[in-house]
Amino acid sequence: MIGLAVTAFAISLGPSRFNPRRHASLWSLAVAATVTMPASAGDRGLVDTSRSPQATMQMIDLDGVRWAGGLLGERFDTCRDSMIPYLWTVLRDPKESHAWDNFLMAANAGEGRGDGRPHGPPFNDGDFLKWLEARIQAEAVAPTETVAAAAAVDMPGVDEIIAVIAKAQRNDGYLHTPTIVRQRRSAEDAKEFADREHFETYNMGHLMTTACVHHRATGKTSLLDCARKAADYLDRLARERPEELARNAICPSHSMGVVELYRLTREPRYLELARRLVDIRSLVPSEVGGDQNQDRIPFRESREAVGHAVRANYLYAGVADLVAEDGDRTLLEPLLAIDRNVETRKRYVTGMTGALYDGASPDGVPAKLHPAIKTVHQAYGRDYQLPNLTAYNETCATIGYGMWLWRMLLATGEARYADLFEETLYNGILPGVSLDGRSYFYVNPLRKLQDFKVPLRWSRSRMATIPSSFCCPPNVARTVAEAHNYVFTVSPGTLWVHLYAASALDTTLPDGGRVRVRQETDYPWSGAVTLAVDEAPAREITLKLRIPGWVRRGGASLSVNGKPVAESPTSGTYAVLTRVFRPGDQVELSLGFAPVLVEANPLVEETFGQVAIRHGPLVYCLESNDLPDGVRLSDVVLAAAAEHGGLSTKAATIANTRVLAVMASGFVRQRPAWNDDNLYREVEAAGAKPAQLTFIPYFAWGNRGDSEMTVWLPAAWR
Ligand SMILES: [Zn+2]
Repeated sequence: MIGLAVTAFAISLGPSRFNPRRHASLWSLAVAATVTMPASAGDRGLVDTSRSPQATMQMIDLDGVRWAGGLLGERFDTCRDSMIPYLWTVLRDPKESHAWDNFLMAANAGEGRGDGRPHGPPFNDGDFLKWLEARIQAEAVAPTETVAAAAAVDMPGVDEIIAVIAKAQRNDGYLHTPTIVRQRRSAEDAKEFADREHFETYNMGHLMTTACVHHRATGKTSLLDCARKAADYLDRLARERPEELARNAICPSHSMGVVELYRLTREPRYLELARRLVDIRSLVPSEVGGDQNQDRIPFRESREAVGHAVRANYLYAGVADLVAEDGDRTLLEPLLAIDRNVETRKRYVTGMTGALYDGASPDGVPAKLHPAIKTVHQAYGRDYQLPNLTAYNETCATIGYGMWLWRMLLATGEARYADLFEETLYNGILPGVSLDGRSYFYVNPLRKLQDFKVPLRWSRSRMATIPSSFCCPPNVARTVAEAHNYVFTVSPGTLWVHLYAASALDTTLPDGGRVRVRQETDYPWSGAVTLAVDEAPAREITLKLRIPGWVRRGGASLSVNGKPVAESPTSGTYAVLTRVFRPGDQVELSLGFAPVLVEANPLVEETFGQVAIRHGPLVYCLESNDLPDGVRLSDVVLAAAAEHGGLSTKAATIANTRVLAVMASGFVRQRPAWNDDNLYREVEAAGAKPAQLTFIPYFAWGNRGDSEMTVWLPAAWR
């Protein structure tokens, strides 16, 4: 596997930094294909690896793919028509999030609003910029509709908003409105970097990411100029006061932002800054550092996912970006080890991460002494520690995991990363927002019982606003607005298909040749996919189609213009079709899937003896709305027939959204109700009534009032 190949490589190579000019691609040892991207058209991808020496593929330009209906297309429409305008009404409301008001005050453009002081959490600026990113992306592919949706809520134009941001920014590039507002009012104690929990670098990181999207979507430099000033500010800080930057570089969205800015501007200082951002982490004093912010030990010595899961996943995603540029094996080895740790020990069946409300950092050398153990907020737990009822799973952590997985895919071309990314997108990110786009999960439990009244600090229902931490809603909005970017990628002579979804592609291959393809499918509800070729270069090119790892052996078939391809596709790989494609050609892929039962490793104590249901890429759940009157969710048992027998599907509608429900047989235990003081009791020999159970996709739960829900259910085998 890749880890072994890399280890062998590491032993054979002397210098600490991999030099792509002198050596074959590091990734090529694992993927058997060295690709050096030429500079070309097609450098307007969301994550632009078109000139990244160690990348296997590059994304399509931001406006190169359009939805053509389907589940993800419907979600995009909801984002454009509901999420983006609704979130604006929250972001501009000084009583709710204060985000826009803070920018206005920092720019001296909004005197008199509110009480004239900055309010809201310190990461508000970054969260506003995430919302702006969603809007810019939506306008790039659906300008008329997005502008109309904006007008309906009296939203200023993007240019107008950027002008305020530019005015709010300090001349030296620093941008963090809570500090700037106070400094402009001569508050003597308003110092930058006074507290690492002020998230200044996080805010500036989102400025860089949003600016790259803006420039790639519009060609304008207004926000890019602000981003460069911010990056220059961080660059100076990294040189002059590296300890100060290290201490305050938490939740490092700026790790991704700086690399992306380098990719856009080709300014070598920004890539060097990205390298420094990794190295300076070891400058954090031990009394300040800890697993919470992944700075207890140097990243290069890390082998396990630890700490605050959002901060961890943003860091890992940023390191993956850096590896795609540098191929630095001393970063790659820990990254691969951490990636395997999450995949095999610390991820939920829904692709979510960050299991614990309150974890600890028990394993550092000095921390083995109890007094030195530090608490960790929303922590990656120990291996297999995955509670359901009290799962934290902040939506942002899952989005960070998705960004990390996607970058691993761009670098390696390994299908398993696309599988995990898809799992995370459908089951970890889509649930973050209600089907109408107007309420949001901050934490994401996999089970909810009304009798469980233990205070958990966060609501286990979606909320219309999250005043103290509005990070997740705009993060979901930008991810849904940008999801079409994840369907296809290209490499020289090759078109890759990662997601199956009704869509249309219009792009140019990195080595030339326009490709226009329509993808016709009802996926994820069925596995029949047709790729209709409208235009292709008049030479042989390769089509790589992901065959998901969950498709059973022999369950996929592929044909071109009705003629089956000789070699049947293998699950967990990309099926390869190399030929001269002509307009009118039709590639037909059939991914056979039916509802199946899934079980967890028995070391996951919280799911012991239970099963979940998956249909294609979607994880399902049982919601109390679908139980007969008087039946408690905690009394329901699934009658698990051998080999998934007894499961069937049925069309259903939830909150005006078309879904496919899964039907299963089960029974309801007839037993007395519990009261709060019963912790244990003798089992009474009571009966059980047969019941027909209706499961719905997990992403659609919580849209029919305050319900009970569970992904995992006790199973009785017969
Ligand atoms: Zn969040």
